[in-house]
Amino acid sequence: RVYKRQMRCRSDIDRLDDAFIAIVKSLIPAEEEKAKQQQLLTLLEKLIIKEWPKARLYLYGSCANSFGVSKSDVDLCLVMEEADVNKAEVLLKLADILQSDNLQNVQALTRARVPIVKLMDPSTGISCDICINNVLAVVNTRLLRDYARIDVRLRQLAFIVKHWAKSRGVNETYQGTLSSYAYVLMCIHFLQQRRPAILPCLQGMEATYSVTVDNIGCAYFDQVEKLSDFRSHNKETVAQLVWGFFNYWAYCHDYTDSVISVRTGSIISKREKDWTRRIGNDRHLICIEDPFEISHDLGRVVDKHSIRVLREEFERAAEIMQYDPNPCVKLFEPY
Ligand code: ATP
Ligand code: MG
Repeated sequence: RVYKRQMRCRSDIDRLDDAFIAIVKSLIPAEEEKAKQQQLLTLLEKLIIKEWPKARLYLYGSCANSFGVSKSDVDLCLVMEEADVNKAEVLLKLADILQSDNLQNVQALTRARVPIVKLMDPSTGISCDICINNVLAVVNTRLLRDYARIDVRLRQLAFIVKHWAKSRGVNETYQGTLSSYAYVLMCIHFLQQRRPAILPCLQGMEATYSVTVDNIGCAYFDQVEKLSDFRSHNKETVAQLVWGFFNYWAYCHDYTDSVISVRTGSIISKREKDWTRRIGNDRHLICIEDPFEISHDLGRVVDKHSIRVLREEFERAAEIMQYDPNPCVKLFEPY
């Protein structure tokens, strides 16, 4: 069943733009916070190099992809020389080292899906997770950051969407809703699909950056400063895009057959990916292809119950954007 309901955007949509921009501004971390994160990174690097001179520490996730709101946790990835180190061993050793240096709440979660050490730095108040050899995450962080450099509206839209998802309780992967990473990919895809397009498809262009990670070739055009003409054609405001984003996920997306794919800059079919049936726990009820690990559906955490929650939230948001006199308040009301 293809479920489509075309709506025309409310006529006073641009009246809302300043309010959305103000919300985005209030969410952007202060320079001071960035400096503190850097300070913590330097401290941790020093401790790590002492034990593993050839290891390197990378910032990834929202602190490095430019989609981080203020007071986000810091995601770090420790890259060891050998690819197949015993992660549990390294994490336990690392936890020891951190604890002896007075970092607080140090905890090694060696059995988690992505094993990590957690810690809190008492001098800056910043919490942080360190994982091991998760190089793909470092590379997809870089891709997201490069998309954000092309057009400021991506960052603005993603801030609004992430803020909405957190306020409405639909940014909880352990409850079957979507990760922040998935929401940012949804925003990128949405802007690639606008006509005229607001974002190009960087992986569809001549590769100027290319690495192989875990046997996966990751390549894309990263000289985005050369793409300034993309900015000029489409003049939609952030308010229009927020409206369009929720309208798309509420009424226009074909949940039965479609996979959104930032890698190709288009929609592809579930059949093509063989994502038509439930396999194990992967149900593919909303399909978001990872740009590099293309067998990976970021929607696979979504189950029969949470797909309803998600779709009801998209519809609620779309209705608010269409009819509510004050969407900038109503959209983010706690659930
Ligand atoms: P937040 O501001 O909510 O912390 P975040 O950008 O740090 O947002 P997360 O969803 O916590 O987003 O993910 C952190 C990083 O981990 C992402 O930027 C991405 O690089 C990587 N990541 C997260 N989930 C996946 C996944 N399912 N597959 C591949 N990489 C992922
Ligand atoms: Mg994070």
